[in-house]
This record gives sequence, C-alpha cells and structure tokens, in this order.
Amino acid sequence: MPVIRILDPSVVGKIRAGEVIDRPAAVVKELVENALDAKSRLISIHAASHPERLMRVQDDGTGMSREDALLALRRHATSKIESADDLSYVRSLGFRGEALASIAEVSRLTLSTRSTEDLTGTQVEALGGAIIQVSGVGRAAGTTVVVEDLFFNTPARLRFLKSRDAEIRVLSRAVWSYALAYPQIHWKFSVEGREDTDLPVAVDCVERWQVLYGKSAGEGAEPLMHEAGGVRLVGVLGAPEHARATRDHQTFAVNGRIVSSATLGAAVRQGYGNLLPSDRYPLALVMLELDPALVDVNVHPTKREVRFRDESRVFQVVRQAVELGMRRYIPAGIALEAPSGFASAGAHRLYAEGNTATLEEQTALALALYAPAGEDGTPMAVREREAGDLRDSLSEPEIPIWQLHERYLLAPIRGGLVIVDQHAAHERILYEEARANLYGGAGTSQVLLFPKVVDLTPNELDALLMLEPHLKRLGFEVSLFGERQVAVRGIPAGIPEESAVGSLQSVLASVDTLGEGGEPPEEHIAKTFACHAAVRTGQRLSPVERRALFDRLFATSLPHGDPHGRPTYVRVPMEELDRRFGRR
Ligand code: ADP
Ligand code: MG
Repeated sequence: MPVIRILDPSVVGKIRAGEVIDRPAAVVKELVENALDAKSRLISIHAASHPERLMRVQDDGTGMSREDALLALRRHATSKIESADDLSYVRSLGFRGEALASIAEVSRLTLSTRSTEDLTGTQVEALGGAIIQVSGVGRAAGTTVVVEDLFFNTPARLRFLKSRDAEIRVLSRAVWSYALAYPQIHWKFSVEGREDTDLPVAVDCVERWQVLYGKSAGEGAEPLMHEAGGVRLVGVLGAPEHARATRDHQTFAVNGRIVSSATLGAAVRQGYGNLLPSDRYPLALVMLELDPALVDVNVHPTKREVRFRDESRVFQVVRQAVELGMRRYIPAGIALEAPSGFASAGAHRLYAEGNTATLEEQTALALALYAPAGEDGTPMAVREREAGDLRDSLSEPEIPIWQLHERYLLAPIRGGLVIVDQHAAHERILYEEARANLYGGAGTSQVLLFPKVVDLTPNELDALLMLEPHLKRLGFEVSLFGERQVAVRGIPAGIPEESAVGSLQSVLASVDTLGEGGEPPEEHIAKTFACHAAVRTGQRLSPVERRALFDRLFATSLPHGDPHGRPTYVRVPMEELDRRFGRR
C-alpha cells in the first residue's frame, strides 16, 4: 500500500497552481481519478439531484492506513510523486496532492477507508478543511468519500453554479468519459431522481461505447486502432451521420487521463475531411498511449490539459489514423483531399493559392492556430522560424509601418511584405498579457483621476462579486457605489479608459457562458477582455503605436493567430509580387 508524504516546497513550486475545484463535477472527477489510481475494480458514484448538496464516490481499491487517511486531507500530501523529476514521468492520474485538501476546504467531507492489510478502517470527518472527528470503522477494503454542502463557506461560488440540470450534465459527462476510457472497470452511477446506470466490465471500449451511445450510433461506429511514431491509439469513431452540432461527444484520453485538447480535436476533425460539413463534430473516443516523458501533464491546475513534446507528430498520427478509419465511407474513386479541413480554420489565408508550403508546414501552422494559446510552449518549427524571421526583419528601428484603411498595418520585411490586422494583433497581445496576469502575478493598474461610475444589472453585480479577484489581477479597481452602481477607480495600464470600462462590462455580461465547454474561467475572461479592450478597426494609430503593436505581437508566444484562431498577419513573399507583375 502506498505511503503518503508531504511534498517538498521545492517540488510544490514546480506544480501548476490554481483553482482545482470550481464546480461539483470537479469533485467527482478528482475522486474518480483517485479511485482509479488506487487500482479499483468497482467504482460507484452517487450524486444528489442538487449535486453540491451531496456526492459520494466509493471504490474497492487499495484503501489507506490510518496515518495516510489523516495525511490525505493535507495540502501537497501525495503518495504518487516525491521529487520534481517525478513530474516528468507521471503515470498516475493524481500527482499534486491537492484534490482532497481543496475539496475538504470548501465542504463537509467524510473519508472512510480501509487498506487491504488492516483489520479495521478509519473514518475522518472534516468541515471547511479542519478535521473534526476521527474514528475507527468496520468496512470492506477500499475508500468512500462523501462530500456534502459544497461551497457552504464560499457563497459566491455557490451562487455562481449553473442550474441543477446543467451541473448534473457536466458531472455525468465527467463520469461517462472515464467509464468510456476504462471499460475493464465496473462502474455504477446514480443521480437522485434518475435512472441508475450499471456498467459491468466490458471487453473493450467499443462494447462500452455501444452501451453508452445506444444501438444505432453503436452500429455505425468504427473501432480505432493504430500505432505510429511511438504513439498508440485506441478508440471508437462515430459514423459521419451521427455527428453532432457540438464537441460534447468527443472524448480524449492521454495515458489514461481524460483531457480536453484542441490539437486532438482538430486532428480528428481533419481526419473526417469532407465527410462532414464544417459545423458538425463527430462522436469520437480517442485514447493515446505514449511515453510519459513525451507528455507534460503539469500544464493546468485541474490537469485537464496536457502538452505533447512533439505536438505536430501527435497531430499527424491521429489525423492519419482517423482518415484511415474513415476510408470505408468514401465512395470508390474519390480521394480524400489532403490536407482537408483547413479552409474553416483560416489557415489557407496565410497560404495563398498555388503556394508550395509542404504538408508539414501547413499542419504546423494549423496547429498554431488551433492550439490553446499561451499554454503552448512547444516550439513548432515553422511557426518559430517564421515569427523569428519576422522579428529580426522588423527589429530595425526605422522601418516604416503604414496604416491602410485604419484596419491593416503594412511593413516591408526581408523577402516581402507583412500585413497585420490591427484588431486581431492587439487581441492576441492583450489575451496573452491577461492570461499571464490571471494565472500569475497582477497586472499594473492605472488610477483614474475621476472614477467612472457605471450602472450594472443585478446579474452583472453578482458577476462582479464573483469575479472580483480576477478583475483585480487584470488591473481593475472597482468598488460598490450605491445599490446598482459601481465606481471604477483603476483600469489596466495602457488601455484607454473607454475601452477598459467597455471591456469590464463585457466581461461581466459574459458570465452566463463562463465555464462552457469546460473552458477555465481565466481563459474565458482573458478572451472576452482582450476582444473588447483591443483597438478597433477604424481607429487611427500613431507611428509609435504601430511600432509598439508590431513589437508586442511578435513577442507573444503565438503571434500567428488571435485567440479565436483567426490569423493576425499575412506575409506576402516577394516572389508572389514578382509573379503577379510577370517578372518571373
Ligand atoms: P493526489 O491524487 O494528487 O496524490 P489527492 O489529494 O487526490 O492527491 O489524494 C492524496 C492522497 O490520498 C493520494 O496520493 C493517495 O495516496 C490517497 N488517496 C486519495 N484517494 C484515495 C483512494 N480512493 N484510495 C486510496 N488512496 C487514496
Ligand atoms: Mg488525486
């Protein structure tokens, strides 16, 4: 049985910090991951109809000794890693030692457990993170965690939860994802007032898939099995006719961990090629196995994203595997257009017709556009090369930058011309800065000489209370001013007052869609803020402002695209101009 230790502060410092528990589904996800790490064969999950009132996850895994049960609720207490080096080879789902502590802090938590070696079990009860009772219990080997009154001591969080049905939906989705990825485990799942689900051990994920998606979607499904470039792929691909309007039914697992991944999503989408219209998303389960050293799991506080050492290789392998799987749907005599699916990404705009960019370059570029920006530290050959060239080329202080129709900025570069979309570029810059501030330090604020009083709706006021810490980190200083009004006293430095206040209101108004699609709030806030604070089309920029925009754009981690995947600049090579003028 594993032994829990408190991680050394030097290791803790290397772990991506941030909020772990933002909604009931996050509790269930963490508890299920713990049950899986404990080598359970049977995992039962139960939720009350209002899941924040009660959730219970029970397993028949290794269980814990009394000492471990007491340590488990402490922060940075884990049996899964010891040193910072271990972070590069994580094989378990957990490794931060924070989940139980984070859950306990905002709930009434009861942990009951018995290890296979012990005769009696231990029950630990905690309230708001403090242990209030420890007792011996008789029970089967394994662990049961009951979480009640989630967020009882953080009312803003509680108020911020979506409707009961929405929370149940997200929670069920989390359970289903793991049930799909672990067919060898017997799952039981019940939600008060709904039909129970019992998923006995299945032979493989195809069988599990058929149980989950039902006969019709199950029949058309294509098993996925592929191995290339050190990546092993297993999964199921839904028939094109079962594609949905949202990405909700795509499940990705990397070394057994359920993740959300723009790279994998894009690869699957491209693999379907012309079989689907651009606004449809196939049902898919794609599970990758690869050397843990080639995956960084420590990129997101909730562990919901991972980064591949070689992002473009993974992309290629998945796209090819899906493409092969889809062969049988393609009428004889029609070849799949390769590479397909780029049109909608806007990537083609960077490569005008007749361009001779290799497939590899196009893929890297498409990846750059799809990749969750900023998280992506992997240097992608093409992107880096191109941005680096541009940086060099533009570093001469006296190069002229022209503004065209108050929309585009033009500058000569070595070997051609670069055209920058002023709004998209500024959006990329502000987005990356906002993210850095939201996840890490605080942005600098500029104090307004005359505070600006803004009227807010009750909803926006609620949002303000909820988002206050985030807004502060962005550089906003806001205080209540009367019943329905707030006074904005400080705004993010470098943004004109009007845009800053406008973007504040947009962020507040957009809370309704916050957290949709599993997007972390920081991500959503950074995007909304950037979109509304960026210079607009139609705005005249001084030469100094143009210069600053160029410099800052090419200093970002992903200068190619705005946060929505639209290109920020287009490069026109001299050869293209020459060709058009009939010089060659
Ligand atoms: P992490 O999973 O990152 O290690 P957690 O806070 O989720 O951190 O759990 C802390 C420790 O408690 C784990 O490392 C593990 O040793 C133990 N633990 C938690 N849940 C279980 C469980 N269901 N069965 C056995 N041990 C568990
Ligand atoms: Mg854990």
